[in-house]
Amino acid sequence: MQALSLCVYCGSRSGIDASFRDAAREVGTLVGLLGWQLVYGGGRAGLMGEVADAALAAGARVVGVIPRALMTRELGHPGLSELHIVETMHERKRLMAEQSDAFVALPGGIGTLEELFEVWTWRQLGYHDKPVGLLNCGGYFDTLLAFLRATEEQGFVPPAQRELLQVQADPSTLLKRLASLSARAEAPDDYRLI
Ligand code: AMP
Repeated sequence: MQALSLCVYCGSRSGIDASFRDAAREVGTLVGLLGWQLVYGGGRAGLMGEVADAALAAGARVVGVIPRALMTRELGHPGLSELHIVETMHERKRLMAEQSDAFVALPGGIGTLEELFEVWTWRQLGYHDKPVGLLNCGGYFDTLLAFLRATEEQGFVPPAQRELLQVQADPSTLLKRLASLSARAEAPDDYRLI
């Protein structure tokens, strides 16, 4: 069976708390240990660089997709298995989504949030059937999750839509859950980073 291809959305900055960097590295390392492929935004900046470098160090195939105009700002990564340089942000997001079997958002800023919400709404509208996850490490997304509960309570988001987003604080638990929901990969054997 072909390896699962995981799309990671995360900050082009590293954030203040060092635990965000640790979580990004853990996700990258897990992708390598599981023999999966990483698809991400192609930069070396911030958490994006952390996840890519950890995945490469763990032997993963890593595919980056970056708009030409962001090559300087996000530091296009020179060491990837494949780096696609595209012309627009729309092309970037389309290519990343097409090449992935599951999606996960790590801590990040508005770019990360935009990508997460887009792929989640595409799922809800039936444009794809791939699992979507949110890594709530260190409680970073607690206030967002509280707001999402309010959208349900106020009758704007049915519970079934909300439940399409897999939320976990622990990287290995989240990746395992995404694998079990993906049509592509077999659920991984029990594994855990120390
Ligand atoms: P940020 O979370 O703001 O640090 O951005 C993380 C990544 O999202 C970076 O690679 C940004 O280029 C990307 N990004 C920013 N805005 C958008 C957008 N509208 N659509 C897709 N990606 C974006």
